[in-house]
Amino acid sequence: MAAYLDRVPLSGIIRIRDMMYAVADPFRLDQGDVSFDAPDSVKAAMVRAIAENKTHYLQTTGVPRLRELIAAKLRNTNRIPVDDPEDVLVTSGGIHGLYMLCMALLEPGDEVIIPDPEWPPAGGNILAAKGVPIGCRLHESSGWRYDLDELESKITTKTRVLYLNSPNNPTGGVLMREDLDRLAAIARERNLWVISDEAYEDVVFDGEHVSIASLPGMYPRTFPLYTFSKSYAMTGLRLGYVAIKDPVIRDRAKKVLFYTASNIASVVQFGGIGALEGPQDCIDAFRAELRARRDLFYRGISELGSDIFSGKPPAGAFYAFLRIDPAWTDPSPLRQAQGRPERGGGTTGSEQTSLSWRMVEHLIKNGRIGCVPGVDFGANGEGYVRFCFARDRQELIGALESMKQLFGVHV
Ligand code: PMP
Repeated sequence: MAAYLDRVPLSGIIRIRDMMYAVADPFRLDQGDVSFDAPDSVKAAMVRAIAENKTHYLQTTGVPRLRELIAAKLRNTNRIPVDDPEDVLVTSGGIHGLYMLCMALLEPGDEVIIPDPEWPPAGGNILAAKGVPIGCRLHESSGWRYDLDELESKITTKTRVLYLNSPNNPTGGVLMREDLDRLAAIARERNLWVISDEAYEDVVFDGEHVSIASLPGMYPRTFPLYTFSKSYAMTGLRLGYVAIKDPVIRDRAKKVLFYTASNIASVVQFGGIGALEGPQDCIDAFRAELRARRDLFYRGISELGSDIFSGKPPAGAFYAFLRIDPAWTDPSPLRQAQGRPERGGGTTGSEQTSLSWRMVEHLIKNGRIGCVPGVDFGANGEGYVRFCFARDRQELIGALESMKQLFGVHV
């Protein structure tokens, strides 16, 4: 009996999704999904694949043409020395790639250092592979980056992997080249593997995106992880990939891939070929629009006054991770009567008093605004709320208007 799975939480994001179904005319700023459509190159390639009856089993690690295109993209765009498309494994989105890596890398009890706050499936996938996630704080004061001395102090004899996520979900923090240089030195000295989750590689507003796998000598110990979800607005199609240089780890990962998927959906893989062969202008267009939405959202938030939320616009990704004024009190006595949201297996003591859950319930129930409590991303996220600003402008404006009414602000 896999009782250990009872200790693997389902993210509060899922719980909130369920709460949102009970809300009429909601503003869905809770989900990390873009409002854009996938480019025509993707849709046309999938239609063609269907017409050509590409509906049969495929190679477990991916269609050769797709793996070739991905290897070229990793070399040319990410500057990672991937000499051979054999290194590339095509997955059912980034989340599947992460599961595959955790299963391929971890023995029970192995520790993985993850950011705190962090996208909940990072910790969840580590737990599902019987590993132990160890949170290391990201600091708002430095643009949501690590104190790297603090990170080094977390390394024990059980630490096997550093999981990095830049740009970061939920904070939008982007690690700088100097951070990556030092992290690379730590990984080398302490003989650690690195999982580099670069799901938001194309959503950097300030500074540049650098893959740690591109730094000298780092690719053999680094597993760079990507997804088509954000860059090509393909969230529901489920397409991602990982590059693995080490043949032993790659063979292990291939087994996980085979036993969980056999192969990734054929038509979707052809959509991926369409994405990489087609024009790439959607990436810049999405980023420009996301920047405009970020600025629109933060302008609206600043109009609420600093006694509700505070925080600087993020350098990357598409989330506003805002600090709730600790003096804020929940005017709604409703919540006691209606019961509390549960995370995974049940309500915990910390949720009973959590400021971030109280604010989220207030915004959902009284303002129809979907959002996620910071504490769902880790203990260091308590006191914050995450809003996704990748929704279309009308939805953002509607949510801001609703907040103004809710907090009694007249502009
Ligand atoms: N990594 C991070 C940090 C993410 O936020 C996400 C999606 N929210 C993913 C990976 C995976 O995305 P997908 O499974 O849609 O490819």
